Formats: sequence, structure tokens, C-alpha cells
Amino acid sequence: MDKLDSKRRSANMRAIRAKNTKPELVVRRALRLAGFTGYRLHRRDLPGKPDIAFIGRKKAILVHGCFWHGHDCREGLRRPKARQEYWLPKISGNQMRDERHQTNLISQGWSVLVVWECETSHPALAQRLAAFVGSGSRD
Ligand SMILES: [Zn+2]
Repeated sequence: MDKLDSKRRSANMRAIRAKNTKPELVVRRALRLAGFTGYRLHRRDLPGKPDIAFIGRKKAILVHGCFWHGHDCREGLRRPKARQEYWLPKISGNQMRDERHQTNLISQGWSVLVVWECETSHPALAQRLAAFVGSGSRD
């Protein structure tokens, strides 16, 4: 691996792990507008540090980028030719990790909602979030 390559790679790694990404901010804004403000972000004590967690309600919202998490949509199925040896295993690794984290959350009594990047521009996003967070008993 040459120097430039490793440099670029760490830049990619940062991008993948970035918190407070745009789709995440869109979801948080929609939640606030719907009156759901009591969420916590990236809690380290929960499996996979979910993007958004309502602790008392035990509801977690995971906001996934379509490409890096392998969504079944146009962006998620995109297959650029360059550097496949890097991003193909990365995507399948992310998918496996996502699944493990969701399973762990659910086994600890959590409800999980996955919001894909491509869904954050959908007009029904706010309704969907409210239905998820607002269902069941309040804390
Ligand atoms: Zn998508």
C-alpha cells in the first residue's frame, strides 16, 4: 500500500464513522419538530452506539448511508469500478455489524427503526418517526 493510498483510506474511514451526518441531522430535526426531544446520541453503553436512542422508551433509530451500509436501492447497489477491493469487503462488514448490533439491541428489549439515507427525503419521514417513537407506553 503506498502512502497516498493509506492516506486516502484513513480519510474514507473517517467519513464512514462520521457522526452527525446530514441524514442523521435530517432525522433529528424531524423528531424535534414532532416534539420528540428526549433522545440521546451515540450512547457508548448500547450495542453499536445507535445514532439516536430514547432511553426510557427503549427505542433506537439507526440512520444508515445507502452506499456504505449496502441498502437495496439505487445508491446502495451502485458498484463503482475503482477500489472495489477496499469498499466491497467494507460494505459486507458493515452489513454484518449492523445486523449484529440490531440483534443485540432487540435481545436487550429495544425496538429498532432503521432509516436509510434515501428515505430521509421522503415526505412521510416525520409520520414514520412519530409512529415508531410514539407507540407503546411512555416513560
Ligand atoms: Zn437507499
